[in-house]
Amino acid sequence: MYKQEIWKNVLSSLETELSKATIATFFAGTELSSLENGMAKILCPNHLSADYLRNHYSQKLKETLQTLTSQPCTTAFEVRQIVSRPQELGPIFRTKSHDGLFSSYNFKNFVVGLSNQLAVSVAQAVVERPGELHNPFFLYSGVGLGKTHLLHAVGNAIKTANQEARILYCPAERFTNELIQAIQSGRSTAIFRRKFRSVDILLVDDVQFLAGREASQEEFFNTFNELYLAGSQVVLASDRNPSEISKLEARLVSRFSGGMVIDIQQPDLDLRLAILRQKAAEEGAALQDEVLLSLAEQISGNIRQLEGALHQLLTFLSSQKISPSKEAVKSIFKDFSPPKPCVTPEDIICAVSRLFGIDLGVLRSAKRSKDIVLPRQIAAYLLRSLGDLSLKKIGEVLGGRDHTTIIYALEKIERELTQNPILRNQVEAARGEILGKTS
Ligand code: ADP
Ligand code: MG
Repeated sequence: MYKQEIWKNVLSSLETELSKATIATFFAGTELSSLENGMAKILCPNHLSADYLRNHYSQKLKETLQTLTSQPCTTAFEVRQIVSRPQELGPIFRTKSHDGLFSSYNFKNFVVGLSNQLAVSVAQAVVERPGELHNPFFLYSGVGLGKTHLLHAVGNAIKTANQEARILYCPAERFTNELIQAIQSGRSTAIFRRKFRSVDILLVDDVQFLAGREASQEEFFNTFNELYLAGSQVVLASDRNPSEISKLEARLVSRFSGGMVIDIQQPDLDLRLAILRQKAAEEGAALQDEVLLSLAEQISGNIRQLEGALHQLLTFLSSQKISPSKEAVKSIFKDFSPPKPCVTPEDIICAVSRLFGIDLGVLRSAKRSKDIVLPRQIAAYLLRSLGDLSLKKIGEVLGGRDHTTIIYALEKIERELTQNPILRNQVEAARGEILGKTS
């Protein structure tokens, strides 16, 4: 049997057990890319579908494949790489030029929220005065939170402002591979060096890849120093803080930490909703806000998952010809959100009120004396981080406050938490009390 035929058979045997909706939503666009020595590689259209199939259907798929091929099978799920296609073959998804920049990743389509605003403002400062203010700029976060997007946005904005600027975007893996090729080809590494050391702006993605690779680190250290001395801007992105990348030489950690180090946090509900609104508009999809809100509530992970979920939803709606509703979203994505501790807004403000010995009524009142304002701001912070409430809702819970007051409170607490250990202990105590009560 050919791969395609096997996969077709797998899908039709699943059809007897799973609902049409599940198949249309999560199996659309999947394919069996190889089946060798009992290892079945399954290609999925995006991370969301890969994660979902891995978590929910790998056992089922193993059994089905086993029955069809009469041999024991294991499964691996991979995400199909999106390749940019020549224009005549259809619409270009992303355009990449020799500087490695994707023109579709820019500041205009990067939605700003509490979790990424600091990163964006530093990135914009870098664009305004490359090589001067924040050099290097080191950006880190978990996957799918916009690091790569921001690196390209910086490159594209500088390119627009200054056509002459020599810009290079390069994932650390490519840096390593090109270095190895240069060494292996027997020629001198002069061409390699010229390429990386003659730029004004070097954007290096996924620098954690350098960990444990000594030759690459040595070369990168020298590249970095040369660029830095020449006043070129270096922007780096990684999945971790420089000091947490194990097997990264101390001298690189120190260089990487020598400028501005900023992280991007998990997106909160407001940002997730804002991103969905923008992506839906880009797709020309008319989805009501309550449908988008429901999706934003269900998918609380990273932004890549959020994009995947929106596509999944649009595919589902068009294949089923039903109109979008928040109930539909809830049922399609019900297995997605990791179980959250069910903390109610009441739990949170009661805990804060107890801890600080302030009456609930006073906490919600208009009173603005210092000993009340701080606990109120802590309550706002906890409502946000534990309750995942929107700004508007937090304002309501705290006695009808404006969302700008809440933003101010959140920013203040977030800032202070990094500097004030007493506050950190108070917040931790409150958090412990709240979570302890509900677990
Ligand atoms: P990372 O490099 O951190 O893993 P990416 O930059 O690849 O994440 O982002 C994953 C996807 O999410 C990309 O398609 C990106 O365009 C999108 N994305 C991330 N953050 C935002 C944002 N704030 N606004 C709009 N799109 C975003
Ligand atoms: Mg990335």
